[in-house]
Amino acid sequence: MRKITIAIDGYSSTGKSTVAKQLADYLGYVYVDTGAMYRAVTLFAMENDIISKDHFNVKELKSALPSIDLKFKKADNWKKAHIFLNGKDVENSIRNLNVSEFVSPIATIHEVRHKLVSQQQQMGEEKGVVMDGRDIGTVVFPNAELKIFMNASAQERAQRRYKELIERGENVTYNSVLKNIQERDHLDTTRQDSPLVKAIDAIEIDNSEMNIEDQFHTVLQLAQDRIAGRV
Ligand code: C5P
Repeated sequence: MRKITIAIDGYSSTGKSTVAKQLADYLGYVYVDTGAMYRAVTLFAMENDIISKDHFNVKELKSALPSIDLKFKKADNWKKAHIFLNGKDVENSIRNLNVSEFVSPIATIHEVRHKLVSQQQQMGEEKGVVMDGRDIGTVVFPNAELKIFMNASAQERAQRRYKELIERGENVTYNSVLKNIQERDHLDTTRQDSPLVKAIDAIEIDNSEMNIEDQFHTVLQLAQDRIAGRV
C-alpha cells in the first residue's frame, strides 16, 4: 500500500500528539513530535544559562547550535520514542511548565528553526510519517498528502493541560497554565519566521466538543481516503 506524509499542526495543547501517535501506531508509520525538539533545545539553553527570566543570549544560542545533538530512540516497553539531548533521555524534563515558558522565544530564532526543519525533513524523507507541530504543513512538508489543523478553545486546552501537569505531580495553577497557553499562541502566530497558520489545503478540526475516540476515527478516515487515493 502506498505510504503518505501526514502533517498535523495547530495551537498548543490541542491534542495533536495524542491523535498523531494513535494514527502512526494504527498505520505502522513513524511518529515525530517536533515540539519535543524545540523543547529539548530550550532545555539546553536553560541548562547552559543562555536563557532565563531576565536574559536571552541569542548570539550564544546560535553559536552553540552545532553542539546540540537531538535523536529519537524507542525501547520496546516505551509507549513512544523518547527524545535524547546529547545522548541523555530528556523526554520527561522537557514537559514541565518552566520549559513551556521559554520554548516559544527559542522557536522564533531562524537558525534554530533551520536546523530542526532540516532534521525533520530527513526523518520524513521516505514518507510513512505522521509529524505534529506548528509549521509541518506549511514549511516542513508543504506537499504532505494529508494536512490537519487542530484547534480548541484556550480554556478547554488549558483545562486539559492543567489536568495532565497535576497528574504528573507538578505544582501549577490553572491560571498559570492558561496564561502560558495564551502567551505561546500569541508568539507562535506572530513570529516572523514560519508563524503558526493553517495551510490553505489543511482540514481544520475543532475538538473542543470531541472525545479522543471520535477525533481518532475522523482523522483515520481522512488518512485512509488519502492512502487509497479516494480524495
Ligand atoms: O508541541 P509543543 O506544545 O510541545 O511545542 C512547544 C513549542 O515549540 C510551541 O509552543 C512552539 O513555540 C514551538 N514549536 C514550533 N514549531 C514546531 C513545533 C513546536 O515553533 N513545529
